[in-house]
Amino acid sequence: MPTSVSPTVSPSVSVLQRMLPAQVRFAYHAVRPLEFNGVVPLSRLPRLRELMQADAVDTLPPVAAQLRTEHAKDGGVQLSGRVQCCLSLRCERCLQPLDWPFDLELALRLVRSEADERRLLDHCEPLLLDDDWLPLHRLIEDEILLALPMAPAHSAESCPPLGINR
Ligand SMILES: [Zn+2]
Repeated sequence: MPTSVSPTVSPSVSVLQRMLPAQVRFAYHAVRPLEFNGVVPLSRLPRLRELMQADAVDTLPPVAAQLRTEHAKDGGVQLSGRVQCCLSLRCERCLQPLDWPFDLELALRLVRSEADERRLLDHCEPLLLDDDWLPLHRLIEDEILLALPMAPAHSAESCPPLGINR
């Protein structure tokens, strides 16, 4: 029987991956693009953590994010990239754990005024920054929460049979 090589992430491994800071100082008018590559453990994302069973939070890999900024021609700073992970949700049909892997594309427009926010609302997703801090953890968590399925469920055939609920 082949040995399992599933990519489990032990705490010692995740320490080696660069952890994204909760927020970074963000020079809004800086011309140079910024790049952020790193991971965020689920234990640092309280609103997501709440949705999952406690034991799942410690065994799941961290959220991986690759983000970059660039000035947009029509105003603001474009923040784009990807966020990937796998969450353990609860199936609404059988109440058993349900793996929900995701790979989200992020495209946010960072703005510093409500006027810009209103002006850009029709053709992009503006994010109003209150100050010179970019809240990386919060915005990553926001995007994942927005993408969560309304009623997570296995496909009808793949729910584990009733009677083996723990
Ligand atoms: Zn199910």
